[in-house]
Amino acid sequence: MQRETLVALDRDHLIHPVVNYRAHERRGVAVLESGRGAYLTDNNGKELLDAFSGLWCVNVGYGHESIVRAAEEQMRRLPYATGYFHFGSEPAIRLAAKLVELAPPSLRKVYFTLGGSDAVDSAIRFIVHYYNALGKPEKKHFITIERGYHGSSAQGSGLTAIPVFHRNFDVPLPNQHKIPSPYPYRNPEGSDPEAIIRASVAALKEKVLEIGRDRVAAFFCEPVQGSGGVIVPPKGWLKAMQEACRELGILFAVDEVITGFGRTGPLFACEAEDVTPDVMTVAKGLTAGYAPMGAVLMSEAIYQGIAEGSGNDLPVGHGHTYSAHPVSAAVALEVLRLYHEGGLLENGIRQAPRFEQGLQALLDHPLVGDARSRGLLGALELVADKETKARFDPALKLADRIFDAAYRNGIIFRAFGDNVLGFAPALCYTGADFDLMFERVRHTLDMVLEMPGVRGALR
Ligand code: PLP
Repeated sequence: MQRETLVALDRDHLIHPVVNYRAHERRGVAVLESGRGAYLTDNNGKELLDAFSGLWCVNVGYGHESIVRAAEEQMRRLPYATGYFHFGSEPAIRLAAKLVELAPPSLRKVYFTLGGSDAVDSAIRFIVHYYNALGKPEKKHFITIERGYHGSSAQGSGLTAIPVFHRNFDVPLPNQHKIPSPYPYRNPEGSDPEAIIRASVAALKEKVLEIGRDRVAAFFCEPVQGSGGVIVPPKGWLKAMQEACRELGILFAVDEVITGFGRTGPLFACEAEDVTPDVMTVAKGLTAGYAPMGAVLMSEAIYQGIAEGSGNDLPVGHGHTYSAHPVSAAVALEVLRLYHEGGLLENGIRQAPRFEQGLQALLDHPLVGDARSRGLLGALELVADKETKARFDPALKLADRIFDAAYRNGIIFRAFGDNVLGFAPALCYTGADFDLMFERVRHTLDMVLEMPGVRGALR
């Protein structure tokens, strides 16, 4: 179909996630057509280096024939099997067992969803059910972190702590609470890792005591805050938060929707700190974006609590038609094979220092105030004043201008708000891909610097 026709049809009928609707109508859609390795081609034939793995999900890169074959074979054999009425399918059962084998040892049971938001929503529902079943119905309060993102479901959007996800949606709910983000670059405690960890632990304890220990169900966090601006807490932070939760008698739920599947180095970020959560949510890299799928993993204790509390007759009323979809499960099994036997996990770990050095090298650019990363998840924070860390005036609309300049330079990454550029290259990146990426990022920043109003805004 002609590009102009697609743009018109899109404008007339398709609602896009998380865009300003009027701005999208004005700009029109950018139609992506094909992908291979780390590269995309749009329907003008323009080649783009994808430095964001789609939406931090295509961790294996585009065009893996073995994944296509796995999906095709499963579709031909059995495209759908419900999990209702005690039915199931082989790939879903094998995948659940494989995830339990690979995940932190505290996690023994898996419920499959279609993505991350419904994984978080399912986790909330299971936790609520668990405490009701346990005879502790007052344990209904959830604590998360400012700038955290936990999806945009009806309840999960209230755990999310980014203002646009709340505006006009009547969340957070009264039982959803926040503590400050560890945010090393802008932490009032300074950048000392021990002080940052101590402050987070103290804030959690204070919040739990304020609400009442007996009323708090769980603390939810991301090992690295993604959509809040790729905020990398100090090493040891996750473990300290787990220990605080255990001490306080609340569940520790880790959202690995972005950080899972090699994004920060190991298969799960929890692994690096020997963290054993009570609940873990995953999605994105599970199928590397080749098919929709997410999951909630939970401890034996939570599962048994729900099972016992439900008695022998009534079903646990939580389900999705496409839970444990066999095609998505077959895709996930092949993607997991590629991470391990295909050497992708290893390549991600090998390339991480190059990624980190490339980001750090950009600190000499007049626009860049901070460079941070863990594994292949990273960000540059742009500031108008490197001394005071003052942000640019939002009226400059820097994010849109950077995104457009990057596209013209043949690279896609993400601009958060107006001051953070996020990067999540695929685990298949070669050294040459990184060289090209940083060349294009620097060129983009140079172009932005010369745009009207930008150089003059520097202090
Ligand atoms: N949790 C985290 C940490 C995420 O980053 C996201 C999405 O970016 C979600 C949950 C929601 O996942 P989805 O967009 O698949 O619904």
